[in-house]
Amino acid sequence: MADPAPFVSRVPFESVHPKALAVYCSDGRFTEAVEDLAHHLGHPRIDTLTLPGGPALLNRWASDYLESEGITRAAKFLIEGHHIEDVLLLAHAGCGYYQARHSALGPDIALEQQLKDLHFGAKEIQTAYPHLRIHLFFARPKGKTVEFESIPRQG
Ligand SMILES: [Zn+2]
Repeated sequence: MADPAPFVSRVPFESVHPKALAVYCSDGRFTEAVEDLAHHLGHPRIDTLTLPGGPALLNRWASDYLESEGITRAAKFLIEGHHIEDVLLLAHAGCGYYQARHSALGPDIALEQQLKDLHFGAKEIQTAYPHLRIHLFFARPKGKTVEFESIPRQG
């Protein structure tokens, strides 16, 4: 049996690295909406760092230490290696990671923890890379769309 011909994507390849990095949850219900948001913000393409919980893992005090080390190292690798200028940290409503980890606390406390984790992650990255522009968002479904609330930075 002959090998099938390789699949050739119609999406053009661009050799220049994107200048923006998005750190968000693996939850595929939000993937395309996050790319859409990035386009809206002026980033035609983005580097992505996705793991269940997304920016939750940047908070080593509230997540698994080794997982946190891993995502933090990966973020630094991309920021330095690809000369990132903008970082988007995104949390979303109904996140399974928080439901699994903080369900006993109820949805309001989970939301509070998500916002805490966004701010913690932003502070960590900003301290390491003062030149970066860091943007925080909370995504929630709204009818058949996804709405992104911009979260003001603290301090
Ligand atoms: Zn999630």
